[in-house]
Amino acid sequence: MDRTYDLTLSSSTSWLADADAQAVCAALQDGGHSIFFVGGCVRNALLGLPDSDVDMSTDALPERVMALAARAGLKAVPTGVEHGTVTVVSGGKGFEVTTFRRDVETDGRRAVVAFSSSIDEDARRRDFTMNALYADASGRVIDPLEGLADLRARRVRFIEDANARIREDYLRTLRYFRFCAWYANPDEGFDPDAIAAIAANTDGLETLSAERIGAELQKLLAAPDPAPALAVMRQTGVLGVVLPGSDDRWVSLIVHFEGLLDLPPYWLWRLAALSGEDVSDRLRLSKADAKEHDRLKVAAFGGQSLREIAYRDGEKIALGAALLRACMAETPPDKAVLETINDAAQAKFPISAADLMPKFEGPELGARLKQLEAVWIASEFTADRDTLLKTP
Ligand code: ATP
Ligand code: MG
Repeated sequence: MDRTYDLTLSSSTSWLADADAQAVCAALQDGGHSIFFVGGCVRNALLGLPDSDVDMSTDALPERVMALAARAGLKAVPTGVEHGTVTVVSGGKGFEVTTFRRDVETDGRRAVVAFSSSIDEDARRRDFTMNALYADASGRVIDPLEGLADLRARRVRFIEDANARIREDYLRTLRYFRFCAWYANPDEGFDPDAIAAIAANTDGLETLSAERIGAELQKLLAAPDPAPALAVMRQTGVLGVVLPGSDDRWVSLIVHFEGLLDLPPYWLWRLAALSGEDVSDRLRLSKADAKEHDRLKVAAFGGQSLREIAYRDGEKIALGAALLRACMAETPPDKAVLETINDAAQAKFPISAADLMPKFEGPELGARLKQLEAVWIASEFTADRDTLLKTP
């Protein structure tokens, strides 16, 4: 097979134009091997979108990659040799170079792989046709599995048998929804084969670690509009397994409201709109994200004014609270809220402890500061220092 298309990516494509990436390619080619860019970087270049990372694929075995990199004066680190990955450092950047592989055995979570010299075999063990696209160092596209046609139609399609692909690795169910949210044509609907296979295999999702589920869901929620994918996740039973008690009803509303206020998407707002039980644990959120998520929910559903939230917790949490309150009221937020929140987030309380001493000390000092701060917030930050100090 090894279909080479008469299609060459523009030489201005960031990773093609990157001399450090080219140096990695040259090191392997000088040793008589082939090396290709693969996966998301090729897919996104073809879509005209920025890429998140650059992966490479080669017919050279890992030890050979190490040796050829060294010969070219590049540092090589065996970051995942057992599954064929060597990180080659070029110009201070790490490039993951993985030997062609085929799956020998899979258990739904991890695979035992064998190295291969065939790009077709390597393509077949990937997840979706649009992710099995390769480009050589000159930008020529190689498409072993007709992924290009699917990509052009913005169709996320499992490679060959969807049911088999999912049973090999249940994370692919979540990746399916993530790629649909980011790249699919929403008017085309979802691939019936994929949906049937996903719905028949929700049990396997229980075997996935919280980290992997969390990382995928975060990427899904960061898509411009994750609502249609989340609705199908609910219908197929996937959402109920990964985030019990969640409800996607508000997600399309919050996306709509973000648009009305010209706010860039923020995954944590959407996550808060989804709700659910033990969200931080189930998704193994980082400490900082978990704290922000908790604070956002308290802010949104508590009684504080948006001004006070913005002053105390910053702009992002106040905006999230405004959006979630709008969802609750099923009424678009007023645009004026942007300025209110922006101003309040920058407001500086004009009184310091030194202003109150020595008249107040110890716990009384703390209580007085709190009292004056409350007066100041209630005045919508207009009360000045002198007025505040005269407060009885
Ligand atoms: P992005 O980097 O934008 O998240 P990507 O497609 O590059 O998207 P990665 O997770 O970086 O995704 O993986 C790189 C490539 O490796 C994918 O394009 C796909 O070909 C393959 N791949 C990754 N994870 C899996 C998986 N669970 N099953 C099969 N193939 C996978
Ligand atoms: Mg990638």
